[in-house]
Amino acid sequence: MPTVAHVLVIEDDPAIRSALVRSLTDRGHAVSSARAGLDGLQQALDDSPDVVLLDLGLPDLDGHSLLSMLRAVRQTPVIVVTARDDDPSVVKALDAGADDYVVKPFGMDQLEARMRAVLRRTSGDGGSQALEIGELAIDPASREATLRGEALDLSRREFDLLLYLARHAGEVVSKREVLADVWNQPYGGGERTVDVHLSWLRRKLGESAAHPGYLHSIRGVGIRLAAPSEDLEGPADDSADDAPDGAPDPRP
Ligand code: CA
Repeated sequence: MPTVAHVLVIEDDPAIRSALVRSLTDRGHAVSSARAGLDGLQQALDDSPDVVLLDLGLPDLDGHSLLSMLRAVRQTPVIVVTARDDDPSVVKALDAGADDYVVKPFGMDQLEARMRAVLRRTSGDGGSQALEIGELAIDPASREATLRGEALDLSRREFDLLLYLARHAGEVVSKREVLADVWNQPYGGGERTVDVHLSWLRRKLGESAAHPGYLHSIRGVGIRLAAPSEDLEGPADDSADDAPDGAPDPRP
């Protein structure tokens, strides 16, 4: 993460907006702000900030619509600022492409930690360098993945998961590490979520836990992405530590 980030704050509450701008500026960030959605969207497009802090309740254009419009053209990291933790609108925002959220009132240390995590994930240690593993190609810059030259139709999370595993190709990574880096949940407890996404990813890669190609589950340890090797035919015994491939799709 750049130590100094350009942060765009989109918030209509003047007290919260000015407090955020002041605190972020004090911490050395370059900060711009907007009090309404359309102005905020315009600034996000014109100024290319490193990260956007987005209040969901805006007077002219609601945060979800803004997010969808922004996502249609940019992958700028967005942290949603919300009043309630269990707000269904947070889930909606995450589904619409928000990278994370904070609940009011929040401390600046927490906000900065989340900004760092989001910037680390989106700019990534491996940067925008394209990766090739066997016949699998992944381009972080365009967020496109192909297998044998055919584009894979991946959700945002599936792409992030594949990219993370590809950046650690050949290594066994634990589901906890995956949760921490791909889902930003460092405290575990969501391994089932990883299993379900792995299962979807396998289906899109045309493989299964019992007949792995690129994705290998190592029982009790984690997952390893590696190019299929031709001398390993047939079902491997490192299978079946994750969700059955027929797992119901819990997405709405
Ligand atoms: Ca508001």
